Amino acid sequence: MIENLNPINSGRFAPNGGRPLTKSLTRALDVAVEPVPDKKPKTSKGAMYRSKVDWCDCTWSPIVGCIWCCPECWRCFATRLQVRGDRKRTIKLTSKQLLRLTDGQGVSSIERFTGWTGAVKLRRDRLRAPLRDKAPKLIFVNLVSDIAYGPEFEEKNYEGFLSEFEGFRREIFGVIEKAHWHTFQILTKRPQLFLEPTIADPGKTVAESLPWPQNLWFGVSVGTKKSVSKIDDLRKIPAKIRWISFEPLLEDLLKLDLTGIDWVVIGGESGKSAREFPLDAARSIVAQCREQGVPVYVKQLGDDWASRLQLGRKAHVLDEWPSDLDDLKIREWPNGFDRSNNGYMK
Ligand code: SF4
Repeated sequence: MIENLNPINSGRFAPNGGRPLTKSLTRALDVAVEPVPDKKPKTSKGAMYRSKVDWCDCTWSPIVGCIWCCPECWRCFATRLQVRGDRKRTIKLTSKQLLRLTDGQGVSSIERFTGWTGAVKLRRDRLRAPLRDKAPKLIFVNLVSDIAYGPEFEEKNYEGFLSEFEGFRREIFGVIEKAHWHTFQILTKRPQLFLEPTIADPGKTVAESLPWPQNLWFGVSVGTKKSVSKIDDLRKIPAKIRWISFEPLLEDLLKLDLTGIDWVVIGGESGKSAREFPLDAARSIVAQCREQGVPVYVKQLGDDWASRLQLGRKAHVLDEWPSDLDDLKIREWPNGFDRSNNGYMK
């Protein structure tokens, strides 16, 4: 009878008498052991994390690492998070330090202050987490990274990084396609990179090389006038559901073309020294969504208004808002999406 073809982990020759290997033994022997499937939906380290964000149930971060690319990034949660293995340390920046960084001193300053070096970790161990969780959820992908990286990331990592990243991203999209009972939300600040040729097959763009399943909502972050052109890039990407996150909204974006957009989220900035959420600019976007028939979700006023109005963190609880903001108390979902079917984590 063939019990186990692995000569190291079988019978009395196994280092621990054939019982399952402990983590430390596995590491010591460098033996690849298939993970035991989880009995319960896993939401702990290495898998998915419950989210306090109102418009998703949990986050899944198979990629960790980034570099600022536009003013919307300046208060990026990820920038203040130094990631070393599984240990996380929040770096607190004073307003003065933040000002120096935002004065255009460049990436080296960011690195000096935050330890956020642009090094990217591709967390293969987290890749299959959504497949193990059988209860349908709304999952925000890559809380601490982007889904597109340019040549500067090859320099910051290693030769061949972008090629490996490209393959890894294809695997992420593959998992999303397989886990059809979940709904995945992806945002990028670099949509233009999806319109460039792939490394593996320069005859195809990145967008053309990926599957675009129905359960993937793909969007761009836009907070300033300079970023509005990202909406045009998004329109060229064949996602089934396209969305825009106007968070952090930092100024009036004037006239917007929302053709081909299925959902809009609007929000103020989070964190200490958050910049002001321009209420009239938000009202203008809501009005344009109404005119152009796009569902809109006003997520939060942000921490600047939270401290001015003495509301809870991020000012995301609609009931706490004063009545003169009633016109902004709107929470709609993409047409045809039933939020109640997604369920929440228990
Ligand atoms: S692109 Fe996103 S993750 Fe990267 S620095 Fe900007 S805000 Fe942070």
